[in-house]
Amino acid sequence: MRLSNFHAHTTYADGANTAEEMVLAAIAKGLVEFGISEHGHTSISWDDYNMTPESMPLYFAEMRGLQAKYAGQIELFCGVEQDAYGDLPTDGADYIIGSTHFIESRGEFLIVDNGAAGQLESVNAHFGGDFIAFAEAYFAAEANIARITKCDIVGHFDLVNKNNERDRLFDTAHPRYRAAALTAMEEILKTCRLFEINTGAMYRVGRSEQYPQDWLLRELRARGGEVILSSDSHDCDSIGFRFAEMEELLRVCGFKSRKTLTRDGFIDIPL
Ligand SMILES: [Zn+2]
Ligand SMILES: [Zn+2]
Repeated sequence: MRLSNFHAHTTYADGANTAEEMVLAAIAKGLVEFGISEHGHTSISWDDYNMTPESMPLYFAEMRGLQAKYAGQIELFCGVEQDAYGDLPTDGADYIIGSTHFIESRGEFLIVDNGAAGQLESVNAHFGGDFIAFAEAYFAAEANIARITKCDIVGHFDLVNKNNERDRLFDTAHPRYRAAALTAMEEILKTCRLFEINTGAMYRVGRSEQYPQDWLLRELRARGGEVILSSDSHDCDSIGFRFAEMEELLRVCGFKSRKTLTRDGFIDIPL
């Protein structure tokens, strides 16, 4: 299969490897196209999670240097994963991934992809123990992600489900959960049609399911959405993690193609 991945992090933010190490790993794995999508700055998060105002220009400069250095071996792209609360412009990036990592509740910012204990604390303190209400608040925020970030790719659409292996925290078939997710999807589709299939949590926390869940992929397909494979890599080893399986899943869910980014923009790869 033609391998490409555009969601990856480095030591400019919360990744384990340098940008050049990631590029070399992508070349070694045979990727045709590769993009790094470092976390854009937001002042509500801490500096080792995001780029800083000082490091962002260094990141862009290094990526442009790597593009030139490895031209002919791999098509390299310089992206930004921009949060809804991102507060530095993304001008100069080749593409933007729009992601919701925080929800605002009563003047506090709650981390969506905290560990299970942290998530539960937020649910108890802000939503009276109602996890579905927490998910509804997440999807209400996620609905605006494409409009706010002007993203090319919607990142980890159902991130709120991260710690919910086998529905141990809440029922993803609950009508309120499904309605909240579908309302967000439909709102996003008015601005951005391309959603990533993200295997990051399968690698990092052993989740058995990708983002978005299978049922959401079918709903996305039914609404004419488009898809791109993404490993949300925070180290070299995870680049392209379980992509062959994801490609098969996309076929099962009715997709006829997936996207990749080239110098000529996003193109279709038939499935
Ligand atoms: Zn993210
Ligand atoms: Zn990411």
